[in-house]
Amino acid sequence: MISSAEAVGLGAVAYTGAMTALGAVLYHNSPLVAPIISCVPDTDAVALTFDDGPTPQFTVPILQALESAGARATFFCIGENMASHQSLVRDMLAAGHCIANHTWSHDHAGIMGSRGYWRSQLQRTSDLIAELSGSRPNLFRAPMGFKIWNQAAAVRELQMRYVGWRAWAWDTTGAPAERIFTRITKKLSAGDIILLHDGLEYARRHASQAQTVAALPDILAFIRDQGWSFKSLANL
Ligand SMILES: [Zn+2]
Repeated sequence: MISSAEAVGLGAVAYTGAMTALGAVLYHNSPLVAPIISCVPDTDAVALTFDDGPTPQFTVPILQALESAGARATFFCIGENMASHQSLVRDMLAAGHCIANHTWSHDHAGIMGSRGYWRSQLQRTSDLIAELSGSRPNLFRAPMGFKIWNQAAAVRELQMRYVGWRAWAWDTTGAPAERIFTRITKKLSAGDIILLHDGLEYARRHASQAQTVAALPDILAFIRDQGWSFKSLANL
């Protein structure tokens, strides 16, 4: 027999172990559920990626900053946002940016979704990208970076690839521009994939990415100062 104190202790150990295992599976760069691209092979380039758009009030100034720096980026777009702003997506494509798949609705409850749910989320978004760009995307980023089995099965079935990131700034939390700049640049290395947000998912539809917009010119200048170039993920 074990005492109730020991039972509580064992329960805590089991809980911590389970949470650690879950964290290892869900962690955005974890390869446990599916292989994932988390860096670019070049040693002299970084890959800028922007999630959750397009949302015109933030996406448009981000496109302008990228244009000024001569930088191409990859946008992991939400299908619903693209459907509302199709001419903006065409502008992004015309400017040479890569448009990739970030689900149709970015629903947080999707983590419980069936394989059919995920197939539909991915397929519908890829159909729209194909309609706007003329080719089907093969890159997918999971909402919040959470990779789960039913989702991974759909990603495999549709012959897509997961993309993670190595530099990020928690720029959906209202962090000021200076902090976004510091978080991105302090450990940045050539080959890194950078995660920022140009848009708003439905759950954050009243939020703002203005601080990301404000931080971007300095981030672009920092990268240039290192002698690195910008690589879109288009040809991975
Ligand atoms: Zn997202």
